[in-house]
Amino acid sequence: MIESPVFEKGYPSYEAVNRKPAMKLRYSEAFYSVQGEGKFVGVPSVFLRTFGCNFRCMNFGLKNEPMRDEKQKQGIKHNAEVAELIAKDVHKTTKEFNDLPIIHTGCDTYASIYPEFKHFNKQATVDEVVEHLLSLTPEGKWTMDNGQDIHLIMTGGEPLLAWQRLYVELFEHPRMRDLKNVTFETNTTQPLHDDFFNYLTDQDRFTVTWSCSPKLSVSGEPWETAIKPSVAYEYTCVDGSDIYLKFVVASQDDFEEVTRAVQAYRDGGVECPVYLMPLGGRSEEYNLNVQEVAEACMERGWRFTPRLHISLFGNAWGT
Ligand code: SF4
Repeated sequence: MIESPVFEKGYPSYEAVNRKPAMKLRYSEAFYSVQGEGKFVGVPSVFLRTFGCNFRCMNFGLKNEPMRDEKQKQGIKHNAEVAELIAKDVHKTTKEFNDLPIIHTGCDTYASIYPEFKHFNKQATVDEVVEHLLSLTPEGKWTMDNGQDIHLIMTGGEPLLAWQRLYVELFEHPRMRDLKNVTFETNTTQPLHDDFFNYLTDQDRFTVTWSCSPKLSVSGEPWETAIKPSVAYEYTCVDGSDIYLKFVVASQDDFEEVTRAVQAYRDGGVECPVYLMPLGGRSEEYNLNVQEVAEACMERGWRFTPRLHISLFGNAWGT
């Protein structure tokens, strides 16, 4: 029997979990990089990008576009750049995920959200995912000989969709025992499954950070579906976890919307640091509003987060 505090609290053993038919996780990419955004900028991290999202965020980088509900009424399902790729059969003719074109408007991880690109994603058992993640780390383990731990970043897509049902098994895997930090980069619309909530609350082996990035109207997602204070509040109830809000902004109007959103979260019982991050997948766009965002943060008492990976690597897969 593998020693673990959670087994004493009535959870199935790792062996029992493994006797069930292996369920598979679908993910578009896993890579090793430095965290480019938010509280842990610069920390060496392995990223696991799961497939699927309840949003589309078609409007990033575009102006005067209808919101998603209006676009749906018009039968529009894709961002214009993605629609063009599909019209050109790029999803059928491209061989490898990493060869897919980078786009500059809308959700930049389009291949992780649109069903047309599902076949570029891997399907793997938890064992296979763990082996893949560890193979990316410099020493094949989460805590290096010099004491620095490699963070695990669960990102997407939206990592808190139904994949939650595999996460207890993932975190209880014997080779995950030296993991110390997990961040969920979430759009903060998905409640936690009871099992997962209880597991996270009971365990004290690793620290969970909720990097909550609710989508403002600049994304094209309507407020009613994007701003969910009760969901963020539930995350804060996971014992020992940490939370911050991170908003992508492009203009003065967005600063006003951040103010309203932060108030809505406060009214919902969520008090936490607020980060603003300039919109822009390419340094050309990113640099346009970076100073304005930093100044707004200084004036209004928010924190600025860069997109470090844009400065370091440009907009590329696997960064
Ligand atoms: S919430 Fe994130 S992953 Fe989902 S569509 Fe929007 S930008 Fe893409």
